[in-house]
Amino acid sequence: MSDLKPQTTACLCGQVKIRANNINPKFTVCHCSTCRTWGGAPFFAVQCGTDVTIQGNENVKVYKSSAWASRGFCSSCGTHLFCQFNESGEYNMPVGLFDNIKDLQMDMQYFSDLKPDYYGFTNKTKEMTGAEIQAYFSSQLV
Ligand SMILES: [Zn+2]
Ligand SMILES: [Zn+2]
Repeated sequence: MSDLKPQTTACLCGQVKIRANNINPKFTVCHCSTCRTWGGAPFFAVQCGTDVTIQGNENVKVYKSSAWASRGFCSSCGTHLFCQFNESGEYNMPVGLFDNIKDLQMDMQYFSDLKPDYYGFTNKTKEMTGAEIQAYFSSQLV
């Protein structure tokens, strides 16, 4: 997997530092209402796998946002840090934390059926509706 990139970043106040060794530059945009409520806009997320080191963990507040995922943010400055799947431990992180990744590409839009009409992207991407995502992940669990 030669396209995976190592990268370091920090929250706005600098109390939390993150190193992610395997970032996939093909990122996903999620239009679901949880993501839009969390961030005020769709969530631009890069997959970071599990090879992630977090320094300053005592400043990370984790909110369990659903049965399958938790979201972490800096308790001092509020910077959104990650959405982590409980089952696999895999991290999705805001792409904006990693401005230096080369070859970033908007690859997929999740919950395209939940996207409100007041914005739209011209990027040509794959899309999955909520029903397609549910079908895909339930087939993975078998
Ligand atoms: Zn902070
Ligand atoms: Zn979402």
